[in-house]
Amino acid sequence: MDDHLKTHTYYEYVDIALKEMPVGIALYDAQTLCLLMANPLFHTFLDPAWQGGRAVGHPLTTWLPHAEEAGVANLFRTVATTGVPYKDDEYAYAGFERGMTYWNWTLDPVRDSDGRIVQIVETVTEITSQVHARQKVEEDKVLLEQEKRDLETEQKRLKVIENIEVVARSVRDSLDIQSISKALIQAIITNFDPLVVYIHRADAAQQALHLLQIHPQPLQEDALRLLQYVPYGTSSYLASVHKQRDPIILEDLQIEVVQEWFAGEGRLPQSYVHGYICVPLWFGDHFEGALTAVLKERISVNDPLVQALTRSSVYIAAALTQARLHTVVKAEQERLRAVLDQLPEGILIVEATNDTITYANAAAEQILGLPIHSLLDSPITSYWGIEIVSKTDIRLPWNFVITEALGGSTVRSQEAILTRTDGSKVIVLGSAAPLRSTDGAITGMLLVFQDITAQKSVEQHKKAFLSIASHELRTPIAAIQGFAEILQVQASKEQKLSPQGLRAITFINEQSQSLTRLIEEMLDITRIEIAQLQLDIATHDLASTIAHVIETQATTAPEHHLQFVLDGLPSPAKLMGKFDENRIVQVLNNLISNAVKYSSVGSNIEVGLRRCSGNADNALIWVKDSGIGISAHELPHIFKRFHRANNIDPSISGLGIGLYLVQELVTCHGGRVWAESTEKSGSTFYVQLPLHMEHPAPQLN
Ligand code: ADP
Repeated sequence: MDDHLKTHTYYEYVDIALKEMPVGIALYDAQTLCLLMANPLFHTFLDPAWQGGRAVGHPLTTWLPHAEEAGVANLFRTVATTGVPYKDDEYAYAGFERGMTYWNWTLDPVRDSDGRIVQIVETVTEITSQVHARQKVEEDKVLLEQEKRDLETEQKRLKVIENIEVVARSVRDSLDIQSISKALIQAIITNFDPLVVYIHRADAAQQALHLLQIHPQPLQEDALRLLQYVPYGTSSYLASVHKQRDPIILEDLQIEVVQEWFAGEGRLPQSYVHGYICVPLWFGDHFEGALTAVLKERISVNDPLVQALTRSSVYIAAALTQARLHTVVKAEQERLRAVLDQLPEGILIVEATNDTITYANAAAEQILGLPIHSLLDSPITSYWGIEIVSKTDIRLPWNFVITEALGGSTVRSQEAILTRTDGSKVIVLGSAAPLRSTDGAITGMLLVFQDITAQKSVEQHKKAFLSIASHELRTPIAAIQGFAEILQVQASKEQKLSPQGLRAITFINEQSQSLTRLIEEMLDITRIEIAQLQLDIATHDLASTIAHVIETQATTAPEHHLQFVLDGLPSPAKLMGKFDENRIVQVLNNLISNAVKYSSVGSNIEVGLRRCSGNADNALIWVKDSGIGISAHELPHIFKRFHRANNIDPSISGLGIGLYLVQELVTCHGGRVWAESTEKSGSTFYVQLPLHMEHPAPQLN
């Protein structure tokens, strides 16, 4: 035994043990329940007023509040009378000032040597914080379970909404609107249990809704009839849904005011009918229809059905839009097809990917001499026998046009000789253009052609006639003119002729000159048509060319006042350019002589020259008269061959080929010609001429 232990008595050990014990220990008198002694820990359990040993010597009922009502005192008495120890692991006690406390405690009887119960020993441990901790865990567990349940419900709910959304989304590109609405209604009825669901489609023209699909079919005929066609003006929720973006959600149709409105949608709701939702189907700014469901239960905004229908609405609306546009496009296509079928021009549409003909009209059948059914789906390459005839008579196979068009270029007015399967030949005039999809990709080609065999043969005859006639006429006229000139010279020298004779010779001379001009012009036309017109391009001063023409014209038309206006050119005026001088003289002569012909004697004719504003490399020449003018409806035609306006005096000679030639000659120079005119006030003809033309412009036609 060590020193420390040696210095303490037995009771002192007990005291130390009791003091240090982590359990409250108390000793009571079994009769009076008076606290005889307790260790320090025990005292700390008590209300503050009784702590620090103040309870010792007092009965339990005095210092333990509510000891009697809570039954604690009785537990002590039972132990004292029966001798049966008492034990409670978790005793809840609400008597202390600090509120609810929990205790683990025991009561044991203490007997004297005779076996009588004289005292009671209590051991007690406060377990309030442990119990609280446990309770917290339990509460958390309950909460967690609740949350889990909520989550599951939410997941289920989302799944249902998703189901319907998936159906709606999958149908949005479909064009068959009946199966779209059927699939959607099916999805709704499998996920929910509505009394009835229906989809309406908007008819903007009639300002009404048409029933597309309903499930189940209403038993009452009149109910179905009322739903089948719902004009916007009717007093029902459905009829008014086009006015809003949000769904109409009615919690309970049994409410009186609702009944009144619902009547327009069928009949008054039975007592088991409650919830109602009507979702407007909007796609962008277009109202496409409505989706409605009627339910047995009351309904609220957060119901999965409401959410599912609201979220699906845009897809259904998209599907309805798609279907509507498809119908419009189809109708347009059919109308277009009907127009194409009627056209006198042959039309072929060729697919870019495999060169097959996807469309041929009746005229194509006739011109190509092949039935439409054999043309369709056959490759255009099977018709390579067709040749393109160029102006210079070079023959190209037809695929040139096709390749060009499929390559993105438009080919205009190409002549082609077509040998049909029966060996007969047709001359066609064809154009081809690429067909593009909305993103610009070339998807095919359109070929338009007409049979010009008849025109061609007339034209060929005309050409032959013109060239023979011009040649046959030129020779005798040249002879007449030559002899008339000889006579004129002789007569003026020898003065042997009477004044009438001299006038006659002068007349013969003038007339044969104008006949020669006419023949030259006819020959020029022929040359242009058979691409034999050659330009003799050289550098000249345009200002002096014009001045010279004016000078000559002034002598032949002395009664008119010819004026040369130079606008913005340095003095002395000079405007160098490359052109065929003879041809430009011919152009100016034509324009000035027309101005003389179609304006009154004594009037002014202005011939002007300046550089083109905005394009200084071009000269602008104008010939302005104040004559009879040209009416607006004649103006587009005056440059056509043989065209003469109807306001001219028939005694004024002319064939209507002068302006045609002017246009051809100016075009060959790369320039352009046009006229501005007001009837009865005069005309101005403009020629825009490039000054630095290196090569003659290619001749078309
Ligand atoms: P034409 O031999 O008839 O003069 P053109 O080809 O030179 O043939 O002209 C065609 C038609 O244009 C004329 O017949 C006339 O009706 C109209 N025209 C041409 N120039 C003028 C003008 N300066 N004033 C009014 N009409 C004109």
